[in-house]
Amino acid sequence: MNNLTNYHSHSTFCDGKAPIEDFIKQAVKMGFSSYGVSSHAPVPFANHWSMKIEEVEPYLNEINRLKQRYSPHIDLYAGMEIDYLHENHHPASDFFAKLPLDYRIGSVHILYKNNTEVDIDCRPEEFKLNIDTYFDGNLKLAVTEYFDKMITMIKTGGFDIIGHADKITYNASTCNPNIREQKWYSEKIEELFECIAQSGLIMEINTKAYNRHGIFFPHQKYFKRIQELKIPVTVNSDSHHPDFINDGRTEALSALKQCNIDTVRQLKNGTWQDTPIQL
Ligand SMILES: [Zn+2]
Ligand SMILES: [Zn+2]
Repeated sequence: MNNLTNYHSHSTFCDGKAPIEDFIKQAVKMGFSSYGVSSHAPVPFANHWSMKIEEVEPYLNEINRLKQRYSPHIDLYAGMEIDYLHENHHPASDFFAKLPLDYRIGSVHILYKNNTEVDIDCRPEEFKLNIDTYFDGNLKLAVTEYFDKMITMIKTGGFDIIGHADKITYNASTCNPNIREQKWYSEKIEELFECIAQSGLIMEINTKAYNRHGIFFPHQKYFKRIQELKIPVTVNSDSHHPDFINDGRTEALSALKQCNIDTVRQLKNGTWQDTPIQL
């Protein structure tokens, strides 16, 4: 079994730029052994990035059709990236728990202030404006709320993979370049990693920003700590276009290996298996 896998992938059912089948064709062409589709799950407010609730059934039907069509060539899985929004909408909510999915990714993209959704996964200029508008310019408060929400999500459960664990930090670092060096930040991320280690959940190494910004989510500076805590990892590209399904994979695998992490978790015949990193 090689390490050509990806379980974080979008499509035109959400904010991806191509139909699911185009991603699968590309994965087969590149020799991927398994591939999971994980469009953004529906959320209860208008937006341009998530699946609509009435699209859930067609989405699952389409993945089933592709599973049959491509089964001799690749192991395909139906996933979803589900937001932890608040205590009434999260991966463990009844609606998501009942869906016939092969796996689920839990992510935080949205914080709430005065009952308003505040997007933290946006362009840096917009992020800065959001911090000024909704957090009175208090970056530490927003970042702390993000990590606390991640921790609540992990404790609530209902999913398999922790999506881009420190996603907010790239945007936050455009406001404060030294944020990762600050004591309060280091303590917060340590609290998150300890919570992840206790949960037994898989943490993704998200390679989406590697080619543009040279960082993974979580940042490579924490790989040593991930090794010490024995957190299981999987490498995902979070691709929104078929051309990017393999971006950053080799770099992530070799950075993990350098920190003595020798295996990644991959799906085989429907089961997560620790698979040696082969470079
Ligand atoms: Zn995401
Ligand atoms: Zn995503």
